[in-house]
Amino acid sequence: MNTPTVTEPRSVLVTGGNRGIGRAIAEAFLAQGDRVAVTTRSGGAPDGALEIKADITNPADVDAAFAAAEEAHGPVEILVANAGITADTLLLRMSEEDWSSVIDTNLTGSFRLAKRAAKGMLRLKRGRIIFISSVVGLLGSPGQVNYAASKAGLVGMARSLARELGSRSITANVVAPGYVETDMTAVLSDEQKDAIRGQIPLGRYAQPEEVAAAVTWLAAPASAYVTGAVIPVDGGLGMGH
Ligand code: NDP
Repeated sequence: MNTPTVTEPRSVLVTGGNRGIGRAIAEAFLAQGDRVAVTTRSGGAPDGALEIKADITNPADVDAAFAAAEEAHGPVEILVANAGITADTLLLRMSEEDWSSVIDTNLTGSFRLAKRAAKGMLRLKRGRIIFISSVVGLLGSPGQVNYAASKAGLVGMARSLARELGSRSITANVVAPGYVETDMTAVLSDEQKDAIRGQIPLGRYAQPEEVAAAVTWLAAPASAYVTGAVIPVDGGLGMGH
C-alpha cells in the first residue's frame, strides 16, 4: 500500500490565486508551510507565493506555468483548478461566445490543467487534483446555462480521473461552493442577494476561507482515501446534492 505520509512542504499550484476564493486557498496552503505557485492573468499573488502569469485558455501558458512551478518548488503534488468566469444571460440571448468562453475557461481549462498535472503526479505516484465547481452545477440556475454546464462537467471529469488515476494514489475531487463573497458575486443586485440568502439554510454567504478549509482538507494526508467526491460548502443550499 502506498499511503502518502506527507510531512514536508508540498508543491501546490492554485489557478486564479490572486483574488477571491483562489487567494484564500493559496493563503491557507502558505499558512501550512506548503510551497505555493499562483497563476493569474492580472497579477497580485499573495506574499510568499510564486506568481506565474498564465491564461488557462492557452495550453502553452498552462504548460509554462507548470514548468515554472516545478522549477521553483518541485513536481506539483496538489492542483487546485479554481480559475473561472461567468457570462450570465438567458438562453435565447446567450451567444456562441458567451457559451464557448465559459466552457473554455471553466471546463476545458480544468482539463488542460489536470492533464498537465497528471504527468508529474503519475511519476510521483501520488497527487491531489481538486476542482472548484459550484452548487449551480448540480442545482441549475436560470441565466447560467453555460456556467452550470461547465461546473457539472467538472464532476464527470473528476470521477473519471478518480477511476483512471486511483491506482497511482492520485485522488480527484470537487468542491462545490454555494454563494461566496467575492468579485464574482459583487455584481449581483441587493434584491438578487436577498433572494439568494432567503434560500440558504444558514442565511448568509460564505467567506472564501470557508471554501479554502475544504480544499486543504482534501489535500491533507488524512484524506488519502477520499476520491471522486463532491464536497458542498454551500450553507445547505444544495442539501448535500
Ligand atoms: P473571482 O471573479 O473573484 O476570481 C476569478 C479568478 O479566476 C481570478 O483570479 C482570475 O484571474 C481567474 N481567471 C479567470 N479567467 C482566467 C483565465 N482565462 N486564465 C487564468 N485565470 C483566470 O472569482 P471567485 O473567487 O468568486 O471564484 C473562484 C472559483 O470559484 C471560480 O471557478 C468560480 O466559478 C467558483 N465559484 C464561485 C462562487 C462565488 O459565489 N463566488 C460560488 C461557486 C463557485 P485574474 O484576476 O488574473 O483575471
